Amino acid sequence: MACCDDFIRLHSNVGRRGFSIRTVDSKATLHFNAVPAEEEARLAEALKPRRIVAQAMGRESIRYCPFCGAVLGT
Ligand SMILES: [Zn+2]
Repeated sequence: MACCDDFIRLHSNVGRRGFSIRTVDSKATLHFNAVPAEEEARLAEALKPRRIVAQAMGRESIRYCPFCGAVLGT
């Protein structure tokens, strides 16, 4: 599913502050996390359900790469 360098950069940012792209099976979701710096280490494990202090978090399913426009998944 890696279509371009920018996609790979965001895909490798999963579990960190800022924007990231997570892929599960053939679906992609765009995530953003705004958390205090001291919480970032715990955010790395955020894919497991748990409580963390977060200012804002969100995710949205995406069908197209936000950089090159390639179709993501099926
Ligand atoms: Zn791309």
